Amino acid sequence: MAEMASPEQDPRNPASWPTGQCEQLEPLVARVLAPNPSAFTYTGTQTYLVGTDKLAVIDPGPADARHIEALLAAIGGRDVVAIMCTHTHRDHSPAAAPLAQATGAPIVGCAPLVIDSDEPRMDAAFDRDYAPDRILADGEAVAGPDWTLRAVATPGHTSNHLCFALEESGALFTGDHVMGWSTSVVVPPDGDMGDYLASLALLYERADSVYYPAHGPAVEKPRQLVRGMIGHRRAREKQIGKLLAGQAQAIADLVPVMYKGVDERLWPAASMSVKAHLIDMEQRGLVSRSGDIWTAIHETEPTA
Ligand SMILES: [Zn+2]
Repeated sequence: MAEMASPEQDPRNPASWPTGQCEQLEPLVARVLAPNPSAFTYTGTQTYLVGTDKLAVIDPGPADARHIEALLAAIGGRDVVAIMCTHTHRDHSPAAAPLAQATGAPIVGCAPLVIDSDEPRMDAAFDRDYAPDRILADGEAVAGPDWTLRAVATPGHTSNHLCFALEESGALFTGDHVMGWSTSVVVPPDGDMGDYLASLALLYERADSVYYPAHGPAVEKPRQLVRGMIGHRRAREKQIGKLLAGQAQAIADLVPVMYKGVDERLWPAASMSVKAHLIDMEQRGLVSRSGDIWTAIHETEPTA
């Protein structure tokens, strides 16, 4: 699914940065890469520090002692005004509590998530211990002396996902909503394809200058990437509609056709995406299901 991986020549490509080092990306933004690379986190979670004298820390990352030590070294005794989380997957928010303890800063940002489901998950598990001091609603902001970070509600990857817009520079911290190296994993029931597409459309209407995702290189042409992602999802939906118009099928039948040529280890994650599409299409009256078998309701191709 790493359809848009950037080669090494990108100066902001994380592959060329050492884990645990503090890298200044622009006057108000620095980044520290956590030591948690994987198929779902790419080179690892990127924690961003915003500000000069008084800081915000965005997506503190996994509760890994090496990463927390690297963050405290990068902070270097400066005041931390807010520890901000885009969402509560375990590669994003667990370091918030130990970092809050070490710096005295409040945890601010997305709402905690309560999920009652035992369905299998291919994405990182949720951080059930996340306890924010303040929840930001869409449009609410946190500010330091030289920065303002405004929450942009972007449900889809998770229902509680927020992006944070840095008003002074036009940058947007996109968490896992939009990443340059891969399309976002949308895992039902908390992940919602309809919400995800609406949140992509929302970003497309904005004029952000650069995206800083939690994984992968900075995105220098944000709207172009978002348009491509919307097109990719529409194409997947269309493909599902066509396959089901020919024959009612289970997800396990659709995936090998739809992801032919893609590394089979990614098929379980792909199954989740197909399921997310089907649930969205079901809600829109395009397909119906009986047990594991999905059927197209309309013979015509689904429309966007
Ligand atoms: Zn995530």
